[in-house]
Order: sequence, then structure tokens, then C-alpha cells
Amino acid sequence: MTFKDLGLSAALVKAVEEKGYTKPSPIQEKAIPYILEGKDILASAQTGTGKTAGFTLPVLQYLSETKHPKYRPLRALVLTPTRELAAQVYDNVREYSKYVNIKSAVVFGGVNAKPQIATLKNGVDILVATPGRLLDLHDRKAVSFKRVDVLILDEADRMLDMGFVRDINKIISFMPEKRQNLMFSATFSNDIKKLAATILRNPVSVET
Ligand code: AMP
Repeated sequence: MTFKDLGLSAALVKAVEEKGYTKPSPIQEKAIPYILEGKDILASAQTGTGKTAGFTLPVLQYLSETKHPKYRPLRALVLTPTRELAAQVYDNVREYSKYVNIKSAVVFGGVNAKPQIATLKNGVDILVATPGRLLDLHDRKAVSFKRVDVLILDEADRMLDMGFVRDINKIISFMPEKRQNLMFSATFSNDIKKLAATILRNPVSVET
């Protein structure tokens, strides 16, 4: 199985090959075709499995295939529990999007919001964010969720542990009902199952 066999475009395969990956990891092999089909996913995945490329590659493909020539509303949102993970996911997004015309950005708390507001104003296709700062920026009208059609919750269990569930639900309340939802979690407590049940629609379970 190759990245091309999974249905990824030449531009994305080229970026992946430059990273030196020779073949998809198990989670990538299982999840990427479903994500390209537009399905919701509930994935059990630890760090180190290649989950980041597993959701980033198909989402970048979707975004580049459906791009409006003029407008750049925010269409894909990745929520992460910590600024470290946000920065790491963003680095991946930048690397994989090297050969597609997709703009990405990252926002998290603990740093000045002004540059983040300026970046968002220029238009971003895919945003990586921690929930608290993102809601703050939404309150300030720096970002809109009205056109978000792919939502990714990365390390959902850690987001719950950190008390982000209300922020997450509030962010989702500003999004269109019709969207694709991808949820990644290392553990599956009852609280995670409950969150999955409220957010995901007919999800495919992906395990590694
Ligand atoms: P992640 O689980 O997303 O944090 O990824 C863990 C590490 O695996 C990262 O350093 C990736 O760059 C790397 N990686 C992701 N996919 C592959 C792959 N198909 N082959 C080899 N390494 C990979």
C-alpha cells in the first residue's frame, strides 16, 4: 500500500515523500480512505502512530479540491489540548501543504493575541487552536466558524481532562450542523464516549 493508493493527490504524495515516509502507517492506511469519503471518524490513537498525517493529508486534499478562487473562509479547524501540541500539529500542516495552495495558522494562549488577529484577518483555510484562546478570538470577532465544514478534535481525552468540554461545545455551537467530524483519543472513558455521541454522526471506528 502506498500513499497514492490511498487516493492522495500528487502534490500531497510529493510532500510526504520529501519527509522520507516510505509507506502509510496502519492508522493512515485505515483512516485516510474514510476521511476522503467524508465520513466521521472515531479513532483510538496514541502519539507516535502517525495520526497527525492521518487527518491532515485527507483534509488538505479536501480543502484544495473545493477551494473558492476568491474567498478564504475558515473551513477546517483542529482543536488541541495544549500549545505544544498545537504548534506541533501546525508544523505538520505546513510541511504537508507545501505543494497545495492552502493557508494555515495556529493560535494558542499565553502569547500576544494581536499577531494572531492580524493573521486571521488575512484569511486562513485551516486553523490549529487551543479552545480557550480560540473562543477569546471569536468573542473579539477575529474569527468566524460559520463556514467550518471539517472539525478535528486531537487528543480529545486530554482536552476533557483539562476541562475544555464547555469551550468545545460552545465553539461547535457556532458551526454549521452539516460538517465532517474527526475525533482522536488515546483512551475511551464514558465522558469521551458521551462527547463522541454528541458530536459525531455515524462514525467509523478506527483502531490501531
Ligand atoms: P504523530 O503520531 O502524528 O505525532 O507522528 C509521529 C511521528 O511519525 C512524526 O514524527 C511523523 O513525522 C512520523 N510519521 C508520520 N507518518 C509516517 C509514516 N507514514 N512513515 C514514517 N514516519 C511517519
